[in-house]
Amino acid sequence: MKVDLYLSRVFRTIKKFKLVKKGDVIFAALSGGKDSASSLFTLKKYITENKIEATLKGFHINFCLPISEKVQKVIEKQTKIAEVPLEVLYIKDLGISLDEVRKKTRRPICSICGTLKRYLMNKIPREKGATKLATGHHMDDFLVFFFKNILGKNYFWISKFKPKIESTHPKMLCKIRPLFMVGDKENKAFCKALGIPFIEEDICPYTFFGCKIDVNREKWYQTIYDIERRHKNFRAQLISSIKDMSKFFEEKNREIKECSICREPTDQEICSFCKLFSNSLS
Ligand code: AMP
Ligand code: ZN
Repeated sequence: MKVDLYLSRVFRTIKKFKLVKKGDVIFAALSGGKDSASSLFTLKKYITENKIEATLKGFHINFCLPISEKVQKVIEKQTKIAEVPLEVLYIKDLGISLDEVRKKTRRPICSICGTLKRYLMNKIPREKGATKLATGHHMDDFLVFFFKNILGKNYFWISKFKPKIESTHPKMLCKIRPLFMVGDKENKAFCKALGIPFIEEDICPYTFFGCKIDVNREKWYQTIYDIERRHKNFRAQLISSIKDMSKFFEEKNREIKECSICREPTDQEICSFCKLFSNSLS
């Protein structure tokens, strides 16, 4: 896909779903990979070209692992080229030890990191004045989540498969996904065309803890691309239907309250973060 076509697709998503508005303070969550870099650069371009009075910042959670310094260097380059400030959170400053938590639970490290990221990506940017959090989740991610959730009968999650998740609690940030209508290979081509540096996927920051790349996800990507080879526009058509479908799965009575330990928003008495980490905080 040519850069112009890529940008027009992303811009159409931003415009149609009102992902950006005047006065917004958007934190773009950066992992060092091509997807979150694409989210940052497309948002920057959209805001600049449309002269929107909104603030855009990069936000990175540094896991303080052996690879983290290398990852952060790449992110520093990305934000420098995009001319946006970068906020970094070092998890060691929170007194969190991933290793300690890993030993206490049988949950896989990817799931522990996921809980930690989701929690901090909402809390920290909000405390620093963000109105929205932008992530690099893209079309192929949602197509894979869709199939997995259908097969696992977790229909509720389909309600979240859309470009914007509005806040349902004063402490919960609105989440935006500018790359909802473009996928893995398009983001890679975009970064390459613009000379944006990124960490290749096969360098998982958590290899230190024995977490391999998501082989399963890669197989799903290949399956989706295989179907697309036979059915032109399969991905774009399916994601558009999923977005329309998402409203049928919304749980109207899901009450969001504050965690009794940390006061962050959750639908449980104690949030997933506190269940995992509250004993390991120094
Ligand atoms: P993942 O769950 O690793 O597929 O990442 C999903 C999205 O979360 C990425 O596209 C980024 O926007 C964001 N993200 C992942 N890792 C980090 C990190 N260490 N710091 C900040 N944001 C991140
Ligand atoms: Zn909590």
